[in-house]
Amino acid sequence: MPGVISDPAELLRQRGIQVTAQRLAVLRAVSVHPHVTADAVADAVRTEIGAISLQSVYDALSVLVGEGILRRIQPAGSPARFEDRVGDNHHHVICRVCGQMVDIDCAIGSAPCLVAADERGYEIDEAEVVYWGRCPDCLAESRSSTPESTARRSQDSARRRRSMRPKQA
Ligand SMILES: [Zn+2]
Ligand SMILES: [Zn+2]
Repeated sequence: MPGVISDPAELLRQRGIQVTAQRLAVLRAVSVHPHVTADAVADAVRTEIGAISLQSVYDALSVLVGEGILRRIQPAGSPARFEDRVGDNHHHVICRVCGQMVDIDCAIGSAPCLVAADERGYEIDEAEVVYWGRCPDCLAESRSSTPESTARRSQDSARRRRSMRPKQA
């Protein structure tokens, strides 16, 4: 559900954030490309307003995340992704092969597993659920490929799987 921000400049003003061309361009880039990486935001912003350093992109993203305007997702073994669908605590499913990430609505309500069985003295404010698997495109490709290329690909994806596997807490 991209594009939920209708008037970015007004939104920034409401939160008391200084409105700059860079922040607006960053906000637009994330709004148009949900689950985008900081690198890809930088590319999009450069085509829109010209030169911007990666550091400025990181700075803008961190201000916007800090104000709750953007959400930052940090899947294990992958760069952080950003989206403007905030506040609904939705989940994500990620393809182990190509890295594509899509939204999945919460299965049981607005705050899944937020009440831990034993909070161990922590004040918990977020529960992140990430499903891992293979996307329809990668599934179709693995079914339609020759045995030789399948063998090569499964080696590749086994390698990726090792590097992308979520760490056990
Ligand atoms: Zn895929
Ligand atoms: Zn999402």
